[in-house]
Amino acid sequence: MSEQTFIIVGASLAGAKAAQELREQGFDGRVMLIGAEPERPYERPPLTKDYLRGESERAKAYVHDEGFYAEHQIELLSNTTVTAVDTGGSRVTLGEGSTLAFDRLLLATGAEPRRIAIAGAELDGVHYLRTLGDCDALRERLETGGRVVVVGAGWIGSEFAASARQRDLEVALVDPLALPNERIFGPEIGAFYRDVHRDHGVELALGESVEAFEGNGAVTRVRTAAGRVIECDFVVVGIGVVPRVALASSANLEVDNGILVDETLESSVQGVFAAGDVANAWHPIYGERIRVEHWANALNQGPAAARSMLGQPVSFDRIPYFFSDQYDVGMEYSGHAPQSDEIVFRGDPAAGEFVAFWLQDRRVVAGMNVNVWDVNEHVQALIRSGETVERSALADPDTPLDSLAKHAPES
Ligand SMILES: Cc1cc2nc3c(=O)[nH]c(=O)nc-3n(C[C@H](O)[C@H](O)[C@H](O)COP(=O)(O)OP(=O)(O)OC[C@H]3O[C@@H](n4cnc5c(N)ncnc54)[C@H](O)[C@@H]3O)c2cc1C
Repeated sequence: MSEQTFIIVGASLAGAKAAQELREQGFDGRVMLIGAEPERPYERPPLTKDYLRGESERAKAYVHDEGFYAEHQIELLSNTTVTAVDTGGSRVTLGEGSTLAFDRLLLATGAEPRRIAIAGAELDGVHYLRTLGDCDALRERLETGGRVVVVGAGWIGSEFAASARQRDLEVALVDPLALPNERIFGPEIGAFYRDVHRDHGVELALGESVEAFEGNGAVTRVRTAAGRVIECDFVVVGIGVVPRVALASSANLEVDNGILVDETLESSVQGVFAAGDVANAWHPIYGERIRVEHWANALNQGPAAARSMLGQPVSFDRIPYFFSDQYDVGMEYSGHAPQSDEIVFRGDPAAGEFVAFWLQDRRVVAGMNVNVWDVNEHVQALIRSGETVERSALADPDTPLDSLAKHAPES
């Protein structure tokens, strides 16, 4: 039996999946999973979707059944914050001052909502959405009904807006960009999502930044820089997240937009690893570091980090993937396309069903399928293949995507 102790800081999806993988790989030393939240690990996607709308049980959100951790001798310390890491002495300090020694350490500390710094930001009724607790408060708001202003038309803001409309609230969506997510996905996709919200009765204040929240104790009005005043019962702010790197920084790990890790997910300090939203990981296919703030990355990177902690050969080269559901619009996106020079559509966004491909030097670097299913694996194969493709074949719905990716290496 191993005498080693592996400590995982952050008891959410990446951390919980890493702990599970350590046991599945036969590690029989001590596994400690330490998390600041009161809950056992849960998944966050339901918090803008079915759970928020009151359509699914809390139990469905958890990563594992209640008994899982004890059954697998995983010591889950909830409500416990790690306040310091001493890499030289291989110890972590807990909130109440005690210390624990580790042989390997995984930091899966995730990300937290970016706070808005405007007048009135501290008023009651200004909400963020990251935790089950945040979601429970908003679930009650949806129960009560009324009028909400959503600040930020990114994925969290857009999904919240959709759920609130589905519960018959009046919704206004404010964003400084003229089109939602335009900077990353371009004007066509931005226009598509703008129209989806408009068609579902969302009042759009796009191209306008928020200047102040106003009210006497609780927010009742949102004022934009353009001078528009929007009445409301509450506000939800979704203006992005920032990686939680304080612990890593104070332990002198290399940090730059997340904890820097190589393709084995090991940090600049030997024996210390990172995974999930907090990890800025070298990607062997894209040849650069990428920090992915999405569910599938946490799901897969946690276990990969666990294998790496065990000394197994790991090269984490999954194609980044995420999904979003808004009203009756389901979407999957795969890839990474900051330098894309062209976008090709298969199908017409106006018809509500399409696949978009982002190309760079005629090679597919990313793809998004909207209300079109069972194509994502072919999109990923195309990206992996690195082969040049004909635009006309990509755009032609009668050309099977798998025929275009036939030379792709196995993932
Ligand atoms: C509302 C919502 C909806 C989402 N929907 C989607 C979706 O539809 N599709 C998609 O692909 N992705 C979605 N995501 C993103 C996805 O949930 C995240 O990528 C995923 O949760 C990241 O998991 P993680 O384990 O890396 O980090 P997190 O989930 O951020 O967890 C990190 C944990 O570490 C704990 N922690 C931090 N510091 C310490 C410390 N010092 N000591 C102890 N514990 C600490 C935190 O309390 C937290 O519990 C959504 C996210 C949110 C918030």
